[in-house]
Amino acid sequence: MSVLVTGGAGYIGSHTCVELLNEGYDVVVVDNLYNSSKKALDRVEQITGKSVKFYEADITDLEAMNRVLDENKDIDCVIHFAGLKAVGESVEKPLEYYQNNIGGTLTLCEALRAHGVKDIIFSSSATVYGDPAFIPITEECPKGVCTNPYGWTKHMIEQILTDFHTADADWNVILLRYFNPIGAHESGLIGEDPKGIPNNLVPYVAQVAIGKREVLGVFGDDYDTPDGTCIRDYIHVVDLAKGHVAAIKKIKTKPGVKVYNLGTGNGQSVLDVVKAFGKACGHEIPYVIKPRRAGDVPVCYSDATLAKEELGWEAKYGIDEMCASSWKWQSMNPNGYNEA
Ligand code: NAD
Ligand code: UDP
Repeated sequence: MSVLVTGGAGYIGSHTCVELLNEGYDVVVVDNLYNSSKKALDRVEQITGKSVKFYEADITDLEAMNRVLDENKDIDCVIHFAGLKAVGESVEKPLEYYQNNIGGTLTLCEALRAHGVKDIIFSSSATVYGDPAFIPITEECPKGVCTNPYGWTKHMIEQILTDFHTADADWNVILLRYFNPIGAHESGLIGEDPKGIPNNLVPYVAQVAIGKREVLGVFGDDYDTPDGTCIRDYIHVVDLAKGHVAAIKKIKTKPGVKVYNLGTGNGQSVLDVVKAFGKACGHEIPYVIKPRRAGDVPVCYSDATLAKEELGWEAKYGIDEMCASSWKWQSMNPNGYNEA
């Protein structure tokens, strides 16, 4: 059995490919390499000793997607990671975000339907909860108002895929709402490789740790939290990747539409992460307090009970392991996948 992995050369996709190959699945990756490198897949092969079938193609290209499915008749489910994900950029370029994320999903699904592949696992996000109605966030928590087009694409794609199942019960859809994925594979061979100035906390901290950036700006220390900084549910990317393998097993039971939070159920503040990273890299991370960042919710962490009960999955790594693996990746690959 083959799994089609869209966006499989990316950060979460490459880690998921490793776990899928380790579990004996064949993997076909479609990625346009807009935000990733083919080298990530070479490293996946190095880690696992197995091969990945790779198509450099765009999910908005119907002809290309049909060709992938024609040439790989053993694909019977898809994990759909491909998408643009920079929150700030999505505010500047809503058309590109809706076209790529929503248009791409529709085209992908058109090709899937034509080939009778109707099991799809989608990368959603805790961002769909908006400013959450309650904490910890269960899947019952109502979806909220998103603060940017990126978030709305997740919100809308969840609805689109749900509507597919309503119209045709042969579609099985698992919506995985990720909390904050960080960390890297224990080999140090694959990890997060942001282009330009990192938007997210841990990649920024990692670049400060290695001396590529001088100081971290902490966005706000006057929130109503124990140390005044925002709280998030950081989850090791390897745990997250394993959650996808668990979701594949679930989707084979033809469950209809299911939604799962993938988080640890624990919250860490920005300063907790700064401290843990300092421990991992052996020196303190310099930081300055900056004004609050627009759109940040003060506290966001999951109740991850449902995934444990129904997928038999739970996160096992803590913040120290997350930071240690992130530091290993950063120090072994100071320029990410670029050798220079
Ligand atoms: P990433 O950018 O590393 O991976 C996404 C991959 O999709 C990239 O390799 C990119 O080249 C590819 N891609 C984008 N548009 C494409 C297209 N039209 N055709 C083919 N390939 C295309 O991002 P990631 O962090 O690995 O995230 C994977 C998925 O998880 C995304 O959908 C993202 O929105 C979602 N997600 C990520 C986070 C996070 O914090 N990293 C949190 C919640 C949800
Ligand atoms: N953050 C910060 N400095 C940075 C980047 C992020 O203080 O340079 C904070 C941010 O305000 C938020 C937390 O770190 O409270 C996590 O931010 P990230 O962008 O990583 O994730 P998300 O906003 O999606 O939860």
